[in-house]
Amino acid sequence: MGILEVKDVNKRFGGLQALGNVNLSVADNTVHAIIGPNGAGKSTLLNCLVGKLIPDTGSVMFAGQSVLGRKPFEINQMGISRVFQTPEIFGDLTVMENMMIPCLAKRDGSFRMHAIESVLDEKALREKAESMLEEVKMLDKRNMHAASMSRGDKRRLEMAMCLVQEPRLLLLDEPTAGMARADTNNTIDLLKEIKARGNITMCIIEHDMHVVFSLADRITVLAQGTPLVEDTPENIKGHPKVREAYLGE
Ligand code: ADP
Ligand code: MG
Repeated sequence: MGILEVKDVNKRFGGLQALGNVNLSVADNTVHAIIGPNGAGKSTLLNCLVGKLIPDTGSVMFAGQSVLGRKPFEINQMGISRVFQTPEIFGDLTVMENMMIPCLAKRDGSFRMHAIESVLDEKALREKAESMLEEVKMLDKRNMHAASMSRGDKRRLEMAMCLVQEPRLLLLDEPTAGMARADTNNTIDLLKEIKARGNITMCIIEHDMHVVFSLADRITVLAQGTPLVEDTPENIKGHPKVREAYLGE
């Protein structure tokens, strides 16, 4: 049994079958990459894992418990954090204030928006947030307004906002999209460090094959809403079906 078990998940948007019989088993303490062309259903699948979408049929089990029917904040409290394809940070708040939101949301079990209210007077959590910022090398930017930061820094902040929750399962939707090469490499190094520390499983959607092959233990190729193949990075690299469906050969 993997820490994450997706069984026969289907999801339709009107006439479009976005996910068709998706099965996915993610082993504990591994990095599992999901790759596939645009529109393959990758983000839809992640949305089904975090309660943002509800599958039409099928089951999603995390650490032996069903996530279906639970609200996103409840799933977050179960130990799943998620980095969005477009950073979801609060531009009007400083970097530090942004960091306090997931800390409070985890503690109080509320939506991120509600957690903002008590952001400013939480000393212990502040220290935790600061040490996470130090880890992602952003402590010097703690008082900057998030909106004024570079795209790479916004993404790094969002990742820190997930990691500070010490999730058992971290879901990353294209974490390096739009990043310059240097930022991408920093992200790879950060995720490698987080992985090496242990007690975390990651599911990463990623287009950049350098990122995928640097981090993944297993790779699932999704095409038109259905897993085409799942294998080790070595085997995926040479797989003819993958080259055809994904690399367009
Ligand atoms: P990917 O992340 O692999 O690029 P998505 O999961 O975002 O793909 O989308 C899969 C398919 O579902 C696409 O055809 C997309 O247009 C469609 N889709 C995604 N979300 C919605 C939605 N909320 N309503 C209608 N169609 C959607
Ligand atoms: Mg997507």
